[in-house]
Amino acid sequence: MSAPNIETIVSLSKRRGFVFPASDIYGGLGSSWDYGPLGVELANNIKKSWWNWLVYERDDIEGLDSSIIQNRLVWKYSGHEDTFSDPLVDCRECKSRLRLDKLEVDPADSKAVCPNCGSKNLTEPRQFNMMLRTTLGAASVEEDESALAYLRPETAQGIFTNFKNVLDTSRRKLPFGIAQIGKAFRNEITPGNFIFRTREFEQMEMEYFCRAEDAPRIHQEWIDGFSEWIGSLGISSENLSLYEQTKEELAHYAVRTVDIMYRFFPEREDEDKQWDELMGIANRTDYDLRVHSKKPEDAEGKRINQDTTEDLSYFDPQTNERFYPYVIEPAIGVNRTLLAIMMDAYEERTNDKSEKRVILKLKPELAPIKVAVLPLAKNKPEIVEMAKRIKHDLQPSMRAVYDDTGGIGKLYARQDEIGTPFCVTVDHESLEDNSVTVRNRDTWEQERISVDALKEYLQERL
Ligand code: ATP
Repeated sequence: MSAPNIETIVSLSKRRGFVFPASDIYGGLGSSWDYGPLGVELANNIKKSWWNWLVYERDDIEGLDSSIIQNRLVWKYSGHEDTFSDPLVDCRECKSRLRLDKLEVDPADSKAVCPNCGSKNLTEPRQFNMMLRTTLGAASVEEDESALAYLRPETAQGIFTNFKNVLDTSRRKLPFGIAQIGKAFRNEITPGNFIFRTREFEQMEMEYFCRAEDAPRIHQEWIDGFSEWIGSLGISSENLSLYEQTKEELAHYAVRTVDIMYRFFPEREDEDKQWDELMGIANRTDYDLRVHSKKPEDAEGKRINQDTTEDLSYFDPQTNERFYPYVIEPAIGVNRTLLAIMMDAYEERTNDKSEKRVILKLKPELAPIKVAVLPLAKNKPEIVEMAKRIKHDLQPSMRAVYDDTGGIGKLYARQDEIGTPFCVTVDHESLEDNSVTVRNRDTWEQERISVDALKEYLQERL
């Protein structure tokens, strides 16, 4: 089972402290969200899993953290100033602002239909650049055009501009990758669906540099590799699918892109419309390294890039060749991954009192809290003291919390709903036999464990 719709996760998130609407006390900002005490832990665990898998477990990937604000020329030469845009239309009837490429088309007359009022009376499309603008320093853009800067729309360009720095300092040979996690910003025309599409989001991107002839094979290896990694986060295969982008859909730099899709909209009747992109894996060719380099020339022998001081080509000492490597880019959003994980882990179950209970079956590795230590009687100081001591003893090895804010049934229900794999209950008997009851989130089974063996017991199962 998984969540019936995104709304279920929106209300769970707000109720329990995963995600809150940003600036809510001033009416919110539509597409901005804040990550609460549990959301920040879940997001951190997702990022840790990605980073461990790529940067630590493999031997061919380095990490990087580049600036959000770069010299504007980066975005000129990457092509984003000219082409990073979506076709914008307005509905003349209901005045909604819409993204043309996301609208349904009536097969009878091939006209796009407004999803809000059903009208086909739309304006001609105009290209709307999605980069968020800002100004640097005291001057306004009207006074000084060089004050204009952008918040990066993808983390990738910081990797390309540092290609030579990383290559020279890490003494890498092809093939190798550079991984980066960080915020990206897009002035989306139609943000929405909770954290699925926002103007500020976080990406986990890796650029894998290789020889042109190896690129198609390596591309496929990363498609398979990421399908497995996403599965290892606990997302079931029946809610995942692959989508091959058509020629028209490809970004200006890509020759092939495969999207890994998640069933974000299971409530939609038409199965085709249930899916949307979780991540994209693109073959960006040698486009990016080439456009940021000073050597490439046009047909008239003029430098294509007039401004760069570097040449980002690669010299292969074995073959004595110099060339621009191809790049395979697996790019995934932290926020969409978090949403997919929460939707997939969501389960409802009825207990023996016929009450509905929600269980978030998160992989223990991702769970915000690994163990909750609960006193059966909070008015008994010895029990409270023992429970707090157990919490403190466990904390260095795993994220543990102490909670005495309700009856034991309520406390179990709360921990189930936020995905805590184990609850440890301290009762009157514990004072006598130095043992506690350990309750499993998924089976609701309880086991009596000696306090001395508790840490090892939990560590084995986590
Ligand atoms: P879409 O087609 O949904 O607009 P995209 O193909 O433009 O996405 P990419 O440029 O491939 O997205 O970005 C890589 C990943 O970053 C996406 O797969 C997604 O997980 C995430 N992402 C992109 N745009 C947003 C956004 N506005 N809000 C949240 N996550 C996003």
